[in-house]
Amino acid sequence: MMIIFVGLCGLVVWRWKLNGWGSVIWLGSAIVMMVIRSPHATKNKENKISEQFAVSIERVLLGLVSLGGTVIPMLHLAFGIFSFADYSAPIWLPVIGAALLLPGLHLFWRSHADLGRNWSVTTEIREDHTLITDGIYARIRHPMYSAIWLIFFAYPFLIQNWIAGTAGLVSFAILYFVRVPIEEGMMRQQFGAAYDDYVGRTGRLWPRFGQ
Ligand code: SAH
Repeated sequence: MMIIFVGLCGLVVWRWKLNGWGSVIWLGSAIVMMVIRSPHATKNKENKISEQFAVSIERVLLGLVSLGGTVIPMLHLAFGIFSFADYSAPIWLPVIGAALLLPGLHLFWRSHADLGRNWSVTTEIREDHTLITDGIYARIRHPMYSAIWLIFFAYPFLIQNWIAGTAGLVSFAILYFVRVPIEEGMMRQQFGAAYDDYVGRTGRLWPRFGQ
């Protein structure tokens, strides 16, 4: 698996002139996301899960997000499979993508750091789950989703292809709108009034100030 991944990365870098320099920035961002997430994924494997919500639909939607946000861009940039849907763009366009990526990756890192052991890929409550209301969570309820929106919104500026550039955004939009009501319902069931209170002083994706 690792060898295939490294091989694909090599192809993406090798083909950068064909795909534009934004493709290398895209690859860098995908690797940074993996590096940020992997220590948390390893540590949180030890979590004892007490309740899981919407597992099967979520697995399908998470699979779609991996496909749209990673697999399709990677295969396109490595092999040009969707080159019929390429669009030409000014050389500076990836600058906009990079400007979106920087705050996106920062938020992605901060939200993992602040959630710590409470982070999980699917919607679930672990034993000893605590309600995090500080750090980046003091003003935003879903900073990790804000981060992913920003990062995937950057992709069409980095990958000049109608399919490979937008597949992440489309697949994440579906996951987001299905998952947030389930996740908030679960948190309300678990933490009751403390969660309602928390919802009242935070924004869903944008920070709420002054309360
Ligand atoms: N929606 C959040 C977290 C995504 S990870 C964000 O975008 O930042 C998903 C898991 O995080 C959920 O299963 C839930 O158990 C946990 N979670 C979400 N918000 C939390 C909070 N404020 N405190 C503790 N755990 C939280």
